[in-house]
Amino acid sequence: MLKFYISSANPHCEINSYLLTYLERELKGIKGILETDTPDSADIIIIGTCVVDATNENISRETLINLRKRYPNKRVYVAGCLSNFDPHFIKANKFDVFDKNKILAECYRKNVERIPMVSLLNRYCDEEILRNENYFLSRRENIFYINISEGCTNACSYCAIKIAKGDIRSIPIESIIEQLEENKNLIAGNFICLLADDCGSFGIDNNESFPELLIKIKKKISCEYKLIIHYWFPLHFLNQFKMIPAEIWKRIHYINIPLQSCSDRILKLMNRNYSVSDVLDAINSIKKINPGIKLVTHIIYGFPSETIDEFKESFHLVSVFDRIIFSCYSDRKGTRASHIKGKISENEKMRRTVLILKEQEKYKQIRITESDIFKKSLTRIK
Ligand code: SF4
Repeated sequence: MLKFYISSANPHCEINSYLLTYLERELKGIKGILETDTPDSADIIIIGTCVVDATNENISRETLINLRKRYPNKRVYVAGCLSNFDPHFIKANKFDVFDKNKILAECYRKNVERIPMVSLLNRYCDEEILRNENYFLSRRENIFYINISEGCTNACSYCAIKIAKGDIRSIPIESIIEQLEENKNLIAGNFICLLADDCGSFGIDNNESFPELLIKIKKKISCEYKLIIHYWFPLHFLNQFKMIPAEIWKRIHYINIPLQSCSDRILKLMNRNYSVSDVLDAINSIKKINPGIKLVTHIIYGFPSETIDEFKESFHLVSVFDRIIFSCYSDRKGTRASHIKGKISENEKMRRTVLILKEQEKYKQIRITESDIFKKSLTRIK
Protein backbone atom coordinates (compact mmCIF):
# COMPACT_ATOMS: atom_id res chain seq x y z
CA MET A 1 0.00 0.00 0.00
CA LEU A 2 1.42 3.40 -1.00
CA LYS A 3 0.62 6.28 1.32
CA PHE A 4 0.55 9.97 0.50
CA TYR A 5 0.20 13.09 2.58
CA ILE A 6 -1.07 16.33 1.06
CA SER A 7 -1.37 19.79 2.57
CA SER A 8 -0.88 23.47 1.89
CA ALA A 9 1.53 25.94 3.48
CA ASN A 10 -1.01 28.65 2.62
CA PRO A 11 -4.60 27.41 2.87
CA HIS A 12 -5.90 30.86 1.96
CA CYS A 13 -4.78 30.52 -1.64
CA GLU A 14 -7.85 29.24 -3.47
CA ILE A 15 -5.83 28.23 -6.52
CA ASN A 16 -3.52 26.08 -4.40
CA SER A 17 -6.43 24.51 -2.55
CA TYR A 18 -8.13 23.76 -5.83
CA LEU A 19 -5.07 22.02 -7.28
CA LEU A 20 -4.42 20.00 -4.15
CA THR A 21 -8.06 19.02 -3.68
CA TYR A 22 -8.18 17.88 -7.29
CA LEU A 23 -5.03 15.81 -6.95
CA GLU A 24 -6.17 14.38 -3.62
CA ARG A 25 -9.38 13.15 -5.26
CA GLU A 26 -7.48 11.60 -8.17
CA LEU A 27 -5.05 9.83 -5.86
CA LYS A 28 -7.80 8.55 -3.57
CA GLY A 29 -9.51 7.09 -6.61
CA ILE A 30 -6.58 4.73 -7.25
CA LYS A 31 -6.85 1.30 -5.70
CA GLY A 32 -3.99 0.53 -3.33
CA ILE A 33 -3.21 4.16 -2.48
CA LEU A 34 -4.11 5.67 0.88
CA GLU A 35 -4.11 9.21 2.24
CA THR A 36 -2.48 9.68 5.66
CA ASP A 37 -3.24 12.31 8.30
CA THR A 38 0.40 13.10 9.01
CA PRO A 39 3.53 13.24 6.85
CA ASP A 40 5.04 10.78 9.31
CA SER A 41 3.52 7.69 7.77
CA ALA A 42 3.47 8.86 4.15
CA ASP A 43 5.68 7.59 1.32
CA ILE A 44 5.21 10.78 -0.65
CA ILE A 45 4.41 14.26 0.60
CA ILE A 46 2.79 16.98 -1.51
CA ILE A 47 2.88 20.57 -0.24
CA GLY A 48 1.19 23.63 -1.74
CA THR A 49 3.35 26.78 -1.48
CA CYS A 50 2.76 30.49 -1.98
CA VAL A 51 4.93 33.55 -2.72
CA VAL A 52 2.25 36.23 -2.76
CA ASP A 53 4.12 38.11 -0.01
CA ALA A 54 7.28 37.68 2.06
CA THR A 55 5.35 36.14 4.99
CA ASN A 56 3.77 33.39 2.89
CA GLU A 57 7.02 32.75 1.08
CA ASN A 58 8.84 32.34 4.40
CA ILE A 59 6.14 30.02 5.78
CA SER A 60 6.41 27.92 2.61
CA ARG A 61 10.21 27.71 2.87
CA GLU A 62 10.16 26.93 6.60
CA THR A 63 7.53 24.23 6.13
CA LEU A 64 9.60 22.56 3.42
CA ILE A 65 12.88 22.86 5.31
CA ASN A 66 11.27 21.34 8.42
CA LEU A 67 9.97 18.45 6.36
CA ARG A 68 13.33 17.89 4.73
CA LYS A 69 15.07 17.87 8.13
CA ARG A 70 12.63 15.32 9.50
CA TYR A 71 12.49 13.19 6.39
CA PRO A 72 15.82 13.49 4.59
CA ASN A 73 15.01 10.67 2.16
CA LYS A 74 11.33 11.15 1.48
CA ARG A 75 10.02 12.37 -1.81
CA VAL A 76 8.51 15.82 -1.25
CA TYR A 77 6.61 17.41 -4.13
CA VAL A 78 6.34 21.19 -4.15
CA ALA A 79 3.13 22.56 -5.64
CA GLY A 80 2.25 26.25 -6.06
CA CYS A 81 4.41 29.23 -6.94
CA LEU A 82 7.63 28.62 -4.98
CA SER A 83 8.97 25.97 -7.34
CA ASN A 84 9.07 28.39 -10.29
CA PHE A 85 9.97 31.42 -8.21
CA ASP A 86 13.08 29.82 -6.70
CA PRO A 87 14.12 26.66 -8.58
CA HIS A 88 17.58 26.77 -6.87
CA PHE A 89 15.96 26.29 -3.47
CA ILE A 90 14.00 23.31 -4.79
CA LYS A 91 17.08 21.69 -6.30
CA ALA A 92 19.38 22.40 -3.35
CA ASN A 93 16.97 20.73 -0.93
CA LYS A 94 16.21 17.80 -3.22
CA PHE A 95 12.51 18.53 -3.59
CA ASP A 96 10.51 17.51 -6.64
CA VAL A 97 8.43 19.96 -8.62
CA PHE A 98 4.71 19.27 -8.49
CA ASP A 99 3.50 17.78 -11.71
CA LYS A 100 0.14 16.10 -11.42
CA ASN A 101 0.80 13.57 -14.17
CA LYS A 102 4.27 12.73 -12.86
CA ILE A 103 2.90 12.06 -9.38
CA LEU A 104 0.06 9.91 -10.69
CA ALA A 105 2.49 7.98 -12.90
CA GLU A 106 4.74 7.38 -9.91
CA CYS A 107 1.85 6.15 -7.79
CA TYR A 108 0.72 3.73 -10.46
CA ARG A 109 4.25 2.49 -11.02
CA LYS A 110 4.97 2.03 -7.32
CA ASN A 111 1.67 0.35 -6.79
CA VAL A 112 2.16 -2.13 -9.59
CA GLU A 113 5.71 -2.97 -8.59
CA ARG A 114 4.81 -3.18 -4.91
CA ILE A 115 7.82 -1.18 -3.83
CA PRO A 116 8.04 -1.40 0.00
CA MET A 117 7.25 1.67 2.04
CA VAL A 118 10.14 4.02 2.67
CA SER A 119 11.52 3.25 6.12
CA LEU A 120 10.79 6.09 8.48
CA LEU A 121 13.79 7.80 9.97
CA ASN A 122 11.95 9.90 12.43
CA ARG A 123 8.50 9.06 13.68
CA TYR A 124 8.17 12.30 15.57
CA CYS A 125 5.56 14.59 14.12
CA ASP A 126 3.97 17.64 15.60
CA GLU A 127 2.11 20.70 14.46
CA GLU A 128 5.34 22.56 14.02
CA ILE A 129 6.08 20.60 10.88
CA LEU A 130 3.28 22.38 9.16
CA ARG A 131 3.49 25.27 11.58
CA ASN A 132 -0.17 25.21 12.35
CA GLU A 133 -2.86 22.59 12.28
CA ASN A 134 -5.02 24.86 10.15
CA TYR A 135 -2.74 24.36 7.18
CA PHE A 136 -4.93 21.64 5.82
CA LEU A 137 -6.88 21.69 2.65
CA SER A 138 -10.01 23.73 2.64
CA ARG A 139 -12.95 21.85 1.25
CA ARG A 140 -16.17 23.61 0.52
CA GLU A 141 -18.57 20.97 -0.64
CA ASN A 142 -21.16 23.28 -2.16
CA ILE A 143 -18.67 25.02 -4.46
CA PHE A 144 -17.57 23.48 -7.75
CA TYR A 145 -14.14 24.96 -8.38
CA ILE A 146 -12.80 25.19 -11.89
CA ASN A 147 -9.36 26.64 -12.62
CA ILE A 148 -9.93 28.37 -15.97
CA SER A 149 -6.42 29.76 -16.54
CA GLU A 150 -2.95 30.28 -15.07
CA GLY A 151 -0.81 33.42 -15.27
CA CYS A 152 -2.05 36.77 -16.61
CA THR A 153 -1.51 39.42 -19.28
CA ASN A 154 -0.59 42.10 -16.73
CA ALA A 155 2.74 43.21 -15.28
CA CYS A 156 2.18 44.58 -11.77
CA SER A 157 5.47 45.99 -10.54
CA TYR A 158 5.39 44.22 -7.14
CA CYS A 159 4.17 40.81 -8.24
CA ALA A 160 6.13 37.63 -7.54
CA ILE A 161 3.26 35.43 -8.81
CA LYS A 162 3.79 36.74 -12.32
CA ILE A 163 7.49 35.81 -12.09
CA ALA A 164 6.48 32.32 -10.94
CA LYS A 165 3.58 31.71 -13.33
CA GLY A 166 4.33 33.84 -16.41
CA ASP A 167 1.94 34.66 -19.23
CA ILE A 168 -1.66 33.57 -19.57
CA ARG A 169 -2.47 29.95 -20.37
CA SER A 170 -6.20 29.31 -20.59
CA ILE A 171 -8.34 26.22 -20.87
CA PRO A 172 -10.42 26.44 -24.07
CA ILE A 173 -14.05 27.40 -23.43
CA GLU A 174 -15.21 24.13 -25.01
CA SER A 175 -13.31 22.04 -22.44
CA ILE A 176 -14.65 24.12 -19.54
CA ILE A 177 -18.21 23.64 -20.77
CA GLU A 178 -17.58 19.88 -21.15
CA GLN A 179 -16.35 19.66 -17.55
CA LEU A 180 -19.32 21.62 -16.29
CA GLU A 181 -21.77 19.50 -18.28
CA GLU A 182 -20.20 16.30 -16.92
CA ASN A 183 -20.69 17.60 -13.38
CA LYS A 184 -24.17 19.07 -13.70
CA ASN A 185 -25.41 16.95 -10.79
CA LEU A 186 -22.78 18.53 -8.48
CA ILE A 187 -23.44 22.01 -9.78
CA ALA A 188 -27.24 22.00 -9.54
CA GLY A 189 -28.33 24.26 -6.69
CA ASN A 190 -24.70 25.07 -5.79
CA PHE A 191 -21.93 27.47 -6.78
CA ILE A 192 -19.50 27.42 -9.71
CA CYS A 193 -16.26 29.14 -8.76
CA LEU A 194 -14.28 30.39 -11.77
CA LEU A 195 -10.75 30.53 -10.49
CA ALA A 196 -7.77 32.28 -12.11
CA ASP A 197 -4.88 34.59 -11.28
CA ASP A 198 -6.89 37.02 -13.40
CA CYS A 199 -10.20 35.94 -14.94
CA GLY A 200 -10.06 39.09 -17.10
CA SER A 201 -6.97 37.76 -18.92
CA PHE A 202 -8.75 34.47 -19.60
CA GLY A 203 -8.90 33.33 -23.22
CA ILE A 204 -6.64 36.01 -24.75
CA ASP A 205 -4.15 33.24 -25.73
CA ASN A 206 -6.95 31.33 -27.52
CA ASN A 207 -8.72 34.29 -29.15
CA GLU A 208 -11.50 33.89 -26.60
CA SER A 209 -12.56 36.08 -23.68
CA PHE A 210 -14.02 35.98 -20.18
CA PRO A 211 -17.39 37.56 -21.14
CA GLU A 212 -17.63 34.93 -23.91
CA LEU A 213 -17.08 32.19 -21.33
CA LEU A 214 -19.81 33.56 -19.04
CA ILE A 215 -22.25 33.80 -21.95
CA LYS A 216 -21.50 30.21 -23.05
CA ILE A 217 -21.96 28.87 -19.50
CA LYS A 218 -25.33 30.60 -19.30
CA LYS A 219 -26.35 29.10 -22.66
CA LYS A 220 -25.17 25.52 -22.05
CA ILE A 221 -25.67 24.90 -18.33
CA SER A 222 -29.36 24.88 -17.77
CA CYS A 223 -29.57 23.93 -14.07
CA GLU A 224 -29.78 26.43 -11.18
CA TYR A 225 -26.40 27.71 -9.92
CA LYS A 226 -24.66 30.86 -8.74
CA LEU A 227 -21.27 32.11 -9.91
CA ILE A 228 -18.21 33.06 -7.90
CA ILE A 229 -15.45 34.94 -9.72
CA HIS A 230 -12.08 34.78 -8.08
CA TYR A 231 -9.81 37.62 -9.10
CA TRP A 232 -10.83 39.97 -11.83
CA PHE A 233 -8.06 42.49 -12.55
CA PRO A 234 -9.81 45.91 -12.29
CA LEU A 235 -8.69 47.18 -15.71
CA HIS A 236 -10.06 44.09 -17.49
CA PHE A 237 -13.17 44.29 -15.33
CA LEU A 238 -13.68 47.89 -16.53
CA ASN A 239 -13.25 46.89 -20.17
CA GLN A 240 -15.47 43.82 -19.91
CA PHE A 241 -18.33 44.46 -17.50
CA LYS A 242 -20.62 46.04 -20.12
CA MET A 243 -20.26 42.97 -22.38
CA ILE A 244 -22.02 40.82 -19.76
CA PRO A 245 -25.82 40.70 -19.99
CA ALA A 246 -27.94 41.63 -16.94
CA GLU A 247 -29.33 38.07 -16.61
CA ILE A 248 -25.76 36.83 -15.99
CA TRP A 249 -25.00 39.59 -13.49
CA LYS A 250 -28.02 38.42 -11.52
CA ARG A 251 -26.44 34.95 -11.20
CA ILE A 252 -23.14 36.28 -9.88
CA HIS A 253 -22.99 35.79 -6.13
CA TYR A 254 -19.49 37.05 -5.38
CA ILE A 255 -16.57 38.76 -7.16
CA ASN A 256 -13.08 39.46 -5.95
CA ILE A 257 -11.82 42.67 -7.62
CA PRO A 258 -8.41 43.46 -6.10
CA LEU A 259 -8.06 47.27 -6.20
CA GLN A 260 -4.71 47.14 -4.28
CA SER A 261 -4.73 50.91 -3.67
CA CYS A 262 -7.15 53.84 -3.57
CA SER A 263 -4.57 56.24 -4.99
CA ASP A 264 -4.24 56.55 -8.78
CA ARG A 265 -0.65 57.72 -8.24
CA ILE A 266 0.29 54.54 -6.36
CA LEU A 267 -1.59 52.43 -8.92
CA LYS A 268 0.65 53.93 -11.62
CA LEU A 269 3.73 52.94 -9.62
CA MET A 270 2.22 49.47 -9.27
CA ASN A 271 1.79 49.44 -13.07
CA ARG A 272 -1.93 48.89 -12.64
CA ASN A 273 -3.25 51.58 -14.90
CA TYR A 274 -6.88 52.19 -13.96
CA SER A 275 -8.66 54.92 -12.09
CA VAL A 276 -10.25 54.01 -8.77
CA SER A 277 -13.28 56.22 -9.40
CA ASP A 278 -13.94 54.47 -12.76
CA VAL A 279 -13.90 51.06 -11.01
CA LEU A 280 -16.22 52.29 -8.25
CA ASP A 281 -18.63 53.75 -10.85
CA ALA A 282 -18.69 50.41 -12.68
CA ILE A 283 -19.39 48.59 -9.40
CA ASN A 284 -22.23 51.00 -8.73
CA SER A 285 -23.92 50.18 -12.01
CA ILE A 286 -23.58 46.43 -11.30
CA LYS A 287 -25.14 46.87 -7.86
CA LYS A 288 -28.15 48.44 -9.56
CA ILE A 289 -28.63 45.21 -11.54
CA ASN A 290 -27.79 42.85 -8.67
CA PRO A 291 -28.12 44.62 -5.30
CA GLY A 292 -27.28 41.43 -3.36
CA ILE A 293 -23.91 40.83 -5.05
CA LYS A 294 -20.99 40.26 -2.62
CA LEU A 295 -17.81 42.18 -3.39
CA VAL A 296 -14.33 41.60 -2.04
CA THR A 297 -11.15 43.58 -2.60
CA HIS A 298 -7.49 43.53 -1.57
CA ILE A 299 -5.36 46.51 -0.55
CA ILE A 300 -1.58 46.59 -0.28
CA TYR A 301 -0.51 49.18 2.29
CA GLY A 302 2.96 50.60 2.84
CA PHE A 303 3.84 50.55 -0.88
CA PRO A 304 6.97 52.70 -1.53
CA SER A 305 6.17 56.43 -1.25
CA GLU A 306 2.55 55.90 -0.12
CA THR A 307 1.49 58.87 2.05
CA ILE A 308 -0.63 58.47 5.16
CA ASP A 309 -3.57 60.19 3.39
CA GLU A 310 -3.33 57.83 0.41
CA PHE A 311 -3.31 54.93 2.85
CA LYS A 312 -6.30 56.20 4.87
CA GLU A 313 -8.32 56.66 1.68
CA SER A 314 -8.76 52.86 1.53
CA PHE A 315 -10.91 52.90 4.69
CA HIS A 316 -13.68 54.58 2.65
CA LEU A 317 -14.12 51.32 0.75
CA VAL A 318 -16.25 49.97 3.62
CA SER A 319 -19.23 51.62 1.95
CA VAL A 320 -18.66 49.63 -1.27
CA PHE A 321 -17.12 46.24 -0.44
CA ASP A 322 -18.30 43.41 1.81
CA ARG A 323 -14.71 42.52 2.60
CA ILE A 324 -11.47 44.52 2.32
CA ILE A 325 -8.36 42.48 2.91
CA PHE A 326 -5.27 44.50 3.81
CA SER A 327 -1.77 43.11 3.27
CA CYS A 328 1.46 44.85 4.15
CA TYR A 329 3.84 45.54 1.24
CA SER A 330 7.17 43.75 1.22
CA ASP A 331 9.93 43.84 -1.40
CA ARG A 332 10.00 40.70 -3.57
CA LYS A 333 13.19 39.57 -5.23
CA GLY A 334 13.31 40.37 -8.95
CA THR A 335 10.38 42.82 -8.98
CA ARG A 336 10.54 46.40 -10.27
CA ALA A 337 8.79 47.72 -7.16
CA SER A 338 11.71 46.57 -5.02
CA HIS A 339 13.78 49.35 -6.70
CA ILE A 340 11.22 52.14 -6.18
CA LYS A 341 12.49 54.87 -3.86
CA GLY A 342 10.66 56.08 -0.74
CA LYS A 343 10.45 52.81 1.19
CA ILE A 344 8.07 53.04 4.15
CA SER A 345 9.91 52.38 7.41
CA GLU A 346 9.07 49.38 9.58
CA ASN A 347 7.82 51.71 12.33
CA GLU A 348 5.48 53.51 9.96
CA LYS A 349 4.17 50.20 8.61
CA MET A 350 3.50 49.15 12.19
CA ARG A 351 1.66 52.42 12.89
CA ARG A 352 -0.54 51.82 9.82
CA THR A 353 -1.18 48.21 10.87
CA VAL A 354 -2.40 49.45 14.25
CA LEU A 355 -4.75 51.90 12.44
CA ILE A 356 -6.16 49.02 10.36
CA LEU A 357 -6.70 46.94 13.51
CA LYS A 358 -8.60 49.84 15.06
CA GLU A 359 -10.78 50.22 11.95
CA GLN A 360 -11.37 46.46 12.05
CA GLU A 361 -12.98 46.90 15.46
CA LYS A 362 -15.45 49.39 13.93
CA TYR A 363 -16.14 47.68 10.60
CA LYS A 364 -16.63 43.94 10.19
CA GLN A 365 -15.70 44.24 6.48
CA ILE A 366 -12.05 44.94 7.29
CA ARG A 367 -9.56 42.07 7.50
CA ILE A 368 -5.80 42.01 7.64
CA THR A 369 -3.45 39.23 6.62
CA GLU A 370 -0.92 38.03 9.13
CA SER A 371 2.66 39.16 8.70
CA ASP A 372 5.62 39.90 10.97
CA ILE A 373 4.53 43.56 11.08
CA PHE A 374 1.02 42.44 12.03
CA LYS A 375 2.34 40.35 14.94
CA LYS A 376 4.58 43.18 16.20
CA SER A 377 1.66 45.62 15.97
CA LEU A 378 -0.54 43.32 18.05
CA THR A 379 2.13 43.30 20.76
CA ARG A 380 2.21 47.09 20.62
CA ILE A 381 -1.57 47.27 21.12
CA LYS A 382 -1.41 44.91 24.10
S1 SF4 B 1 -2.80 40.68 -12.18
FE1 SF4 B 1 -0.92 41.64 -11.37
S2 SF4 B 1 -0.85 40.93 -9.23
FE2 SF4 B 1 -2.26 39.54 -10.31
S3 SF4 B 1 -0.97 37.82 -10.97
FE3 SF4 B 1 -1.05 39.30 -12.70
S4 SF4 B 1 0.77 40.59 -12.43
FE4 SF4 B 1 0.41 39.52 -10.47
